[in-house]
Amino acid sequence: MEAFERMLLENKAWATEQTLKEPDYFERLAVDQSPAVLWIGCSDSRVPAEIIVHAQPGEIFVHRNIANQLITTDFNGLSVLQYAVDVLKVRDVIVCGHYNCGGIRAALQKQSARLLIVNKWLKHVKDIYRLHADEIEALGTEEERIGRLVELNVIEQVHNLAHTSIIQQSWAQEHGPTLHGWVYGLRDGLIKELISLPPGSGVSPIYQYVDFSE
Ligand SMILES: [Zn+2]
Repeated sequence: MEAFERMLLENKAWATEQTLKEPDYFERLAVDQSPAVLWIGCSDSRVPAEIIVHAQPGEIFVHRNIANQLITTDFNGLSVLQYAVDVLKVRDVIVCGHYNCGGIRAALQKQSARLLIVNKWLKHVKDIYRLHADEIEALGTEEERIGRLVELNVIEQVHNLAHTSIIQQSWAQEHGPTLHGWVYGLRDGLIKELISLPPGSGVSPIYQYVDFSE
């Protein structure tokens, strides 16, 4: 049986099981969503947002891409952020990276002409490496260097969030959301907190929108 065929069968079994447990489960979920959290994670198949924090459908608004980035020219990520913040009014935005990230590993290597688009996406991670090259190169093993760039990338993405007009306007007018940077360990399944920026956290003046800070 192909993987997709098994998925369709599993879906039928799951829907039946959920309905047996709670007859109005799907009717209740179909009405609306009010997730408290926006999750920005990596596309890696081993880091499924809902499963690793034991969440249920309806609890997390999810956006995933290679190396969990929030790039200010990416309309996909920005539209998810705007909808989550301005419409769903999420209380927390979590950027969750993970150790052994293939995207981060690739960013530390030479570029492949076969992967021109991926290269462009990972260019932003290379820029983060360049800012912290001395610290990263002082580490003894490749795994340590990748792990540290995983952490620095998460922290940078949290700052990228704080630099958007979406977050700055919401901080000024809604007093939320709080921004979090987490990293997940594939070897132990545990999440480590790296950074937390509550509403109104200091943003360097060059990234401030005058409209929301005066
Ligand atoms: Zn990854």
